[in-house]
Parts: sequence; C-alpha cells; structure tokens
Amino acid sequence: PNLAIFRDYAMKPDPTSSLPPSILLSHSDTCLTVFDAFPKSIFHLLVIPRIKPPFSARHLADLRSLLQCKTDVAKELLMNLNEEANKVKMMIEEEMMKRYKFKWDIWMGFHPISSMEHLHLHVLSADLCSPKLKLKKHFNSFHPNLGFFLHLKDVLSWFDADPSYYRRMVKLDRSQYEPLLRDGDLCCWRCDRALGSMPKLKAHLQDDFDKLTKREKATLERK
Ligand SMILES: [Zn+2]
Ligand SMILES: [Zn+2]
Repeated sequence: PNLAIFRDYAMKPDPTSSLPPSILLSHSDTCLTVFDAFPKSIFHLLVIPRIKPPFSARHLADLRSLLQCKTDVAKELLMNLNEEANKVKMMIEEEMMKRYKFKWDIWMGFHPISSMEHLHLHVLSADLCSPKLKLKKHFNSFHPNLGFFLHLKDVLSWFDADPSYYRRMVKLDRSQYEPLLRDGDLCCWRCDRALGSMPKLKAHLQDDFDKLTKREKATLERK
C-alpha cells in the first residue's frame, strides 16, 4: 500500500478535478473527506486536513506532530476537522435512513499510532461489521472504550484541561498505546462479552447488529 496516499490527497490544489467520486466524498477549504479503502464498519470515511499555511506536511504527519504545534493553531485545525466531520455525520445518517430506515451512532476519532503518513480523522458507524475487519488489532483500534481510539471530543477537551494534563496527553507515548492493540481478551464493544476468537467475535457483532435492526424494525411497525 502507498502509505503517503493521504498526503498526496492533502496536497491537491483542486481535489474535485483530480479525485474520482469513488474516492472523494466532499471537500472544504481546509479539509477533504474520502472513503476508507478498507472500511472497518458499514460506513467508514476519513477527514483529512489539506496542507496549507501555517502548516507544512511535516506538521500534519500525525496527531502527535500536530499537537506539538502552537495550541491555538492546532486547536483551530481540529475545529475545522470537527466541522467537516459533523457534515459527514449528517450525510451518513441520511444514507442510514435510506438503506436501513433507522440511524445508529457514529464515532469520530484518531489513532495515536498509524502507518499512514498523514493525519486523518476516522468517521465511522458504530457497528464494526465489515468483511475488512479481520484482525484483533483492527478491532481493538476502533473499540470505543479501550483507549486506543481517541475520540475527537476527548482530544478537544485536552485544550481546556490544565497545562500539565495537556502536556502529558499530547505526548501520545507509543509504549502506552501499543499494548492496547494486542493485550487483553477480545470483548464486544457493545455488551462487553468476551469472545474467544476473531471469527466468533465477528459473528457476535453481526448478531448484535441484526438484533438492533430487528428491534428498530419492530418499533417502526408499531408506529
Ligand atoms: Zn487510520
Ligand atoms: Zn455484544
């Protein structure tokens, strides 16, 4: 895989003319939104900051490098991603209603460690039902309560915390995060049940989602 592909997107002066609609969902002055090529949920998009002053590619390499910038510019960039992500969320919800007749939660967050060379915000539906979700590390990296997936609203809250807390959090110490991907049991993010293997976990996640669908359908029919 081309690990610099998001950076290539982020440098494009005119994303619409250079990226096909199968890749690009939308863009603004400050960011662009693409479909994740390996979706880990039913809906999975990425909001990518465009490389523009005062930022260079180096500042936007990942969340760690961004948070080493001055806090006011770093926060402004995150707020731009937040604004775009909220629009994407509404588009996903529209699509959920069209395809499933109900909406479910949407997560927005970052990975503290990534092999990709440019910062990207994950916006994905809360299900983790996808054929591309194959490995324990995939699952754990999106588990909403395990600590590896850094919710955007939590990262934004660091700016309002006291400075010593901010300094500690923005280090994003690899040795603290890496074990979260491999250690511990595989537990369903929804009901916390421990599942012994990835095939069992995947079947369970699908089962939970099917139950949710059935419940929502029953509610609709009662109306
Ligand atoms: Zn990622
Ligand atoms: Zn469950």
